[in-house]
Amino acid sequence: MAPQLDIARSNPNAPALDGQETGGADAARPRRINVVGLTRAQLADELKALGLPEKQIRMRVNQLWNGIYNRGLKSFEGITSLSKELRAQLNERYEIARPEVVEELVSVDGTRKWLMRLAPEKPGMPGPEIETVYIPEEGRGTLCISSQVGCTLTCTFCHTGTQKLVRNLTPGEIVGQLLVARDSLNEWPESADQPRIRNSDDRMVTNIVMMGMGEPLYNFENVRDALNIVSDGEGLQLSKRRITLSTSGVVPEIPRAGEEIGCMLAISLHAPNDEVRNQLVPLNKKYPIEELLDACRQYPGLRNAQRITFEYVMLKDVNDSVEDAKALVRLLKGIPAKINLIPFNPWPGSPYECSDWAQIEKFADVVNRAGYASPVRTPRGRDIMAACGQLKSETVKKRASEKLKERKEAAEA
Ligand code: SAH
Ligand code: SF4
Repeated sequence: MAPQLDIARSNPNAPALDGQETGGADAARPRRINVVGLTRAQLADELKALGLPEKQIRMRVNQLWNGIYNRGLKSFEGITSLSKELRAQLNERYEIARPEVVEELVSVDGTRKWLMRLAPEKPGMPGPEIETVYIPEEGRGTLCISSQVGCTLTCTFCHTGTQKLVRNLTPGEIVGQLLVARDSLNEWPESADQPRIRNSDDRMVTNIVMMGMGEPLYNFENVRDALNIVSDGEGLQLSKRRITLSTSGVVPEIPRAGEEIGCMLAISLHAPNDEVRNQLVPLNKKYPIEELLDACRQYPGLRNAQRITFEYVMLKDVNDSVEDAKALVRLLKGIPAKINLIPFNPWPGSPYECSDWAQIEKFADVVNRAGYASPVRTPRGRDIMAACGQLKSETVKKRASEKLKERKEAAEA
């Protein structure tokens, strides 16, 4: 599914396919290029390379776009606005592919988690896995999307941070997570006469948060291209105000995120001073709080109606005192902000405890009195390890436990 996307990205005309098609046996045939995640310009280049006349390209891109993103089709066959010949030609070289769903778990609170397998690095190897989470709430449904397999950063309270970076996700794999969620939630129109997804009022996925595995600003171009497809009026049609990108504070990329993506921003702050933040988010040593907040103040479109969310994980006796709360509100003074207090979600071997509920309430009181509304995020999907910071590839977990077993066996031998 995916490596061919890389070919498409570095060379949208995919010359690797040329001259290889007479090979006969299927195994010798080049893999098809996934069109999911190609930008409009890249898709147009592909169609040009197929020999379509210039004046048709725009219309054909729109027809394909409509089939893939508005109707959720998985093959070109159903895009009947394209001629039969063109559909066959497309089918030869391209595919409309999603990550493979390995497992779908549903929590007692309705939260869903999909374990998805991506294309392997090398043929014959198992593909890496990612997790995507859907959180239904009154009047909205939020999809939490991953941007990387693992993470290069090592925030000490985060499960993903214990997993090394395996690789960045391609735009197709990022957009593919939304396509899979819509497949599973039955959110596509039933027929071609009903060309749009539902009205925003009765949609299942109304919001997207880039808060799954990985640091989205360390995979900037791919995240940007994917989110621009997700928010495209003819694409997946989610307004940029309903898309939130969460970063641990990659300061140099924040202005670009504003200019080239223009979505809502969330900052994983987690501490009211550099001393504590250095321990929790080691990236703070490179980009300390003052620089981070300066970048926030300059974020385009920042105003009261479009505030930045500051996330703050509640860790017992680490960052949860009333003094910390006071320091936090002082720190954010003057920035149009929302504060989101996240009760710490434990994971096997995690070195912290969640703050006591009474302490979270005391902390929230200070925050509330400073004018920030209902800031505590209810933990969702803990029973299926789908809550914030609990995501980690199943294969890696298994591999780690297998290694442990092997080591034990070796020690016993
Ligand atoms: N890498 C990005 C986005 C993914 S993490 C970032 O760090 O912002 C999404 C959010 O979950 C972040 O605010 C992160 O700090 C928080 N988080 C990570 N581990 C957590 C845990 N164990 N409990 C609660 N929140 C956690
Ligand atoms: Fe990476 Fe975000 Fe986890 Fe930090 S909190 S390790 S940046 S995923």
